[in-house]
Amino acid sequence: MAFPFAEAELYRATARKFLDRECPLDKIAQWEDQDHIPRELICKMADAGLLAVTVPEEFGGMGRQVLAMSIILEEFAARWSAVAGLYNMSVGYGSLHMGSKGTREQQAQYLPKLLRGEILFAYGLSEPDVGADLAAVKTCVRRERGKVVVKGAKRWTSGAAMADYILVLARSGDLASRRQNLSFIIVPRTAPGVGIQQLPCMGMRGGPTYDVRLDNVELEESMILGGEAGWNNGWSMLAGPSLEIEKLTPTMIALGLAKGALAEAWEYSQQRLQGGKRICGHQAVRHVLADAQTQWKACQLMAYHGALKVEQNIESAVDTSMAKLFVSESCKNIVLSCQQYVMGAYGYAKGFQMERFVRDILVFPIVGGSVAIQRNNIANLMKLPRE
Ligand SMILES: Cc1cc2nc3c(=O)[nH]c(=O)nc-3n(C[C@H](O)[C@H](O)[C@H](O)COP(=O)(O)OP(=O)(O)OC[C@H]3O[C@@H](n4cnc5c(N)ncnc54)[C@H](O)[C@@H]3O)c2cc1C
Repeated sequence: MAFPFAEAELYRATARKFLDRECPLDKIAQWEDQDHIPRELICKMADAGLLAVTVPEEFGGMGRQVLAMSIILEEFAARWSAVAGLYNMSVGYGSLHMGSKGTREQQAQYLPKLLRGEILFAYGLSEPDVGADLAAVKTCVRRERGKVVVKGAKRWTSGAAMADYILVLARSGDLASRRQNLSFIIVPRTAPGVGIQQLPCMGMRGGPTYDVRLDNVELEESMILGGEAGWNNGWSMLAGPSLEIEKLTPTMIALGLAKGALAEAWEYSQQRLQGGKRICGHQAVRHVLADAQTQWKACQLMAYHGALKVEQNIESAVDTSMAKLFVSESCKNIVLSCQQYVMGAYGYAKGFQMERFVRDILVFPIVGGSVAIQRNNIANLMKLPRE
């Protein structure tokens, strides 16, 4: 059933048409085996108008439509998480960041190219020793003779090999000051001193993640995100609306993955015969599917509520933390129930999509702020006393 937001809902139909045309299941199976997604899909998304929802109108886009972006992410992930990941490299890591934090010159330089699908961004926050505690970032940036020089290492930089630029969070002063001296640097992937190496993972094939080495990468000062105002101001760029988006995007991908898994299990239950009848006639299977539909609907409402508040610039830190926590955990449980209690052995085997949904969903309670970190956020933001 369509959610009653007519304008944003139009993008759902566009996303589905795009998927049916460009990402049929046999192609996805082939790309999964190759751990590859064709770059030209992003240009085709641009042609379909799907990249416009996060680009300001003055640069040719449709403005900041967070709900529409969320619906597109959901639909893409219901087909294949890698296509949602590719989309996010343009709309999430690219145009939303650039639109809210870039200088006027940076916006004019990057946003039209993002809109046309010509460039992609990756997001370099995590490091080998830095996960949840991002204020402890060790990669450093110094200013020398009118240049900036970046040195360090990033880990888990998804899509780095395909990205044209990596937004690198770097320390622009001493570690003791933690949040006071962080800056975002726009690092071209092909700049001298940048080295990348894939980190093999259980799932998310087609959207691999990478170690990025930054070996005294020398760049113009124009690569400081936000210009002079952005220097030492990385933490405030990371917190606030950007953090809400950072929580929302994995929430929407998890929602989509569970939707895809539930649709496959729902259909399978009507085809599979056991004990002389279709398994959808067995009460145990019916109850699993009814529970999964109910939990998924709760997830969808919570995720859309968060997206709408972010779109309308209403304070939403608690809502997005709750959505990230509840949706990523519940959707993991939905996928695992559909696999085990409905599809049985066939949910474990190649040939159906389910085994891919299972591999992919497991990362969503971890990325974009783990569920434990969201629990911390909720208790802290709601001012629960510690003593
Ligand atoms: C496939 C994949 C893609 C990714 N893509 C990106 C990307 O594109 N860019 C990027 O920057 N990062 C990316 N990440 C990194 C991801 O965001 C981190 O894994 C995540 O932030 C958690 O960090 P960590 O795994 O190092 O866990 P740690 O921080 O080491 O935590 C380990 C465990 O301890 C818990 N924990 C830690 N601190 C606390 C605390 N204060 N209170 C309670 N519990 C705590 C955590 O919840 C977790 O369960 C990706 C990771 C994966 C696996």
